[in-house]
Amino acid sequence: MQTARLPRLDLRRLIILLAMLSGLITLGIGFYASYKVQRDSLIGSTLAANQAYAAKLADGAEEFFRSAQQQLAVSAELIAARFPDVNQWDAEARRLREQTDSFNAVVITSAEGKVLATAPNTGLLVGQKLSSPGASQALAERKPLISSPYISALGTLVVLISHPIVADDGTYLGYIGGVIYLRERNILHSMLGQHFYQDGSYLYAVDQTRRLLYHPEPKRLGTVVSENAVIDRALQGESGSLRVVNSQGVDMLAGYAASPAAGWGIVAQRPTAITLQPLDDLMFKVARQTAPLALLTLLCIWGLATLITRPLSQLAQRASQMDAPNTAERIQRIRSWYFEAAQLKRAMQLGISLLHQRIGKLNLDAQTDPLTGLHNRRGLTFALELLRSEGQSFAVIALDIDHFKRINDTHGHDVGDTVIQQMAGLMKTCSRDADILCRSGGEEFLMLLPNTTLDSALLVAERLRMCVELEQIPVVGHITVSLGIAVWPMHASDIERVLKLADAALYRAKQHGRNRSEIAEPDQYLQDNSKTDA
Ligand code: GH3
Ligand code: MG
Ligand code: MG
Repeated sequence: MQTARLPRLDLRRLIILLAMLSGLITLGIGFYASYKVQRDSLIGSTLAANQAYAAKLADGAEEFFRSAQQQLAVSAELIAARFPDVNQWDAEARRLREQTDSFNAVVITSAEGKVLATAPNTGLLVGQKLSSPGASQALAERKPLISSPYISALGTLVVLISHPIVADDGTYLGYIGGVIYLRERNILHSMLGQHFYQDGSYLYAVDQTRRLLYHPEPKRLGTVVSENAVIDRALQGESGSLRVVNSQGVDMLAGYAASPAAGWGIVAQRPTAITLQPLDDLMFKVARQTAPLALLTLLCIWGLATLITRPLSQLAQRASQMDAPNTAERIQRIRSWYFEAAQLKRAMQLGISLLHQRIGKLNLDAQTDPLTGLHNRRGLTFALELLRSEGQSFAVIALDIDHFKRINDTHGHDVGDTVIQQMAGLMKTCSRDADILCRSGGEEFLMLLPNTTLDSALLVAERLRMCVELEQIPVVGHITVSLGIAVWPMHASDIERVLKLADAALYRAKQHGRNRSEIAEPDQYLQDNSKTDA
């Protein structure tokens, strides 16, 4: 079954990928970290600012309630002192209403809750009995109070701040109440509203029942805010800050504080999204400014990665083509400019040179006769090729040991081998370095003598013949050889033919009694002779 092979990734691509990835990741992490730090700091500072605002306003509200209660207490005392002087009630109610901005209206009632005086003219009739929650609470509890918001007899959402009027003898005479119309301009508006910002920040206040007393959106006034952790905490009298999703589903950075006098909670908040918007813009600008530099950095990384991987990829390419011509020179040309590449290059060069040596040795072995160390037939062919290609003239001496069979028969094959080896030794002694010596058969040899004339070759042959004849060979004693000499291109233009002519001359030497040298006869003669033989 064949499996589809994915193309292998190369080092260059891997390193570029790695470098690019790490570059991008570093850039991304840096960008994200700086965004996160600034974001956290922005959120933290907004929360702290909102907490400070909420606390300041809660203090303001406390101050307002205290001063309102004080104003009412003073009035209650004045009224009690001059009770039952009816004329002073209206005057006191008006004075209280007009002297400060604290109340939208002022009302004075009797102990039964009947209206004794109002300011301004609210439409309430003197003598009318009040039964609103605020009035009922004030009459029932007979102590300084700040009511929960309620719908007044005139149908408007109000808060009543009241103080009992008590005679010197302790008789309860009624109460004086300052009314704040929540839906109209009042002291709370001027106090809280001035902290409303165009940047999305705003404030709101709630009472114990989570009803909105103040809110920039008038239609939400008087509504009850359901789940909201910030309100829970503020109404427990705590002060602090919190990131919270409000009842409208908006993520808010809220600061909260409590006004214990009225049991109100005050919250200053800003939507998180609006708070972070400038940061997003900033980061976008930073990204835009950084982009060209980042691109340049990535390009540099690319270039450096290419520079680093080039020698390795070139070495790898050469390694896959070790048998190609000029591999060694090509490896030599590779610029291995750092340690690992240099080591690899050196190792490859060493490997190639060892390989060449080995191949050379194998070639040599293949061309060498193992018994004598002379060229074998293949070596001879190679040498002849070389001489032919160089066009160099040469003489051939063909040589055969006389009556060798007898040596074998008499002394054994091993002694015969030793004789062959000694024969090779003698040939080496009697020849020049440039001569090519070859064992062409069992006890037959060939000598190629480059740039040698027929006469010189005859001299060499005779010298060798005599040398052999004189040599004392252990066990065997003396041996003789017969030799045949031919010259290329003198005797024939075809080299093979010259070899045959030398062989023929050797044959003649055998025929003429052995232990002698014979010179090849001219080719024409030989051909004619062979025709006659045929
Ligand atoms: P001649 O004078 O006519 O050459 O007689 P000769 O006995 O030498 O005859 P020939 O050359 O025909 O015989 C060669 C003998 O050499 C035949 C073979 O047994 C023997 N021979 C061939 N190769 C080897 C070898 O490698 N080692 C040994 N010991 N003997 C070999
Ligand atoms: Mg022979
Ligand atoms: Mg022989």
